[in-house]
Amino acid sequence: MNCPWCDFEGTPREMHAHLTREHADRVELSERNDRRYYKIACPVCESTYEREIKPRYRDPEFLNEFREEIAMVGFDMLINHLVAEHELV
Ligand SMILES: [Zn+2]
Ligand SMILES: [Zn+2]
Repeated sequence: MNCPWCDFEGTPREMHAHLTREHADRVELSERNDRRYYKIACPVCESTYEREIKPRYRDPEFLNEFREEIAMVGFDMLINHLVAEHELV
């Protein structure tokens, strides 16, 4: 599959590593009413997925410590979406 944001091409597994390394800033983190969320927007159809971050990550340092882990979860969701909705393989 092709990276939606650059020229990279690879298997979904390689894509996942690439996205986490190069495009982690595409996974937005936010905080509302004492809850934390991550959000990823599909670059093809612009639908967005937002999920609450698990309570075990509620630690003052979490944003930095878990940034990469959360990005990985977000990109999992995005790759599933790209494959299912846009038939990108
Ligand atoms: Zn890329
Ligand atoms: Zn989409």
